Amino acid sequence: MLVDIHCHANLYLNLDEIVADAKKAGVHKIISVGMSQTSLARVIEISENYDTIYPALGIHPEEVKMNKEIDQNLDKVIEFIRENSNKICAIGEIGLDHYFVKDRSLYPIQTKIFKKMLSLAQELTLPVNLHTKGAEKEIFELLSSYKLPEVNIHWYSGPDELLKLGIERGYYFSITPAISYSPPVKKVVELVDQKHLLLESDGPVKYSGQIGTPKMIKDVLAKIAAIKKIDIGVLESQIEKNTKKVFPRIF
Ligand SMILES: [Zn+2]
Repeated sequence: MLVDIHCHANLYLNLDEIVADAKKAGVHKIISVGMSQTSLARVIEISENYDTIYPALGIHPEEVKMNKEIDQNLDKVIEFIRENSNKICAIGEIGLDHYFVKDRSLYPIQTKIFKKMLSLAQELTLPVNLHTKGAEKEIFELLSSYKLPEVNIHWYSGPDELLKLGIERGYYFSITPAISYSPPVKKVVELVDQKHLLLESDGPVKYSGQIGTPKMIKDVLAKIAAIKKIDIGVLESQIEKNTKKVFPRIF
């Protein structure tokens, strides 16, 4: 069974079709991650409407650009996540972004939100799904202060030495369809042991102009198998095992 562990399913206008196509491709579970303050209730709602969608809740590091009220609404957001804590499988998508967020005056509030989300994950004993773009060092430093069941780094593209540190610490790395063209993503696949890899679409993010969808992870699996020279079936069951380890609540 294939599991898309990171998708923004609430953003599709044709979700019926997306979910049906995913099933046809063997993708029987999809984790829909929260992003904005307004997305959280919608993520819970779609997970109640589709038996293959499982919710994760969190505030994306780019929310500080879009939502000027996020600071004052943070307690409300945390309350919402707590109230829904028995329905969710992870805290995510959370993290820091110093690449797409250029305005440095937003970094303190971004860090404040991230720390609150990490504390919440620790309190609720939930794994985290992390966005680390351009802030890998800061995130890896912060992570040592928290006790989290498991850490999933989504779409890693940072420096090699931090990738190696993440591997030493036993983090799990999820691979997107960017495996087709991105040298940093290929590097992750080469260096990370198959026991620490996961699959994700990050849909509807576009890949070479094409909207990303959960069914694409079937091809991601094939590409990983080719790079690592492993039988596809063997790799699929290994990744399913990894997924169970990180996100036990969706099984
Ligand atoms: Zn994402």
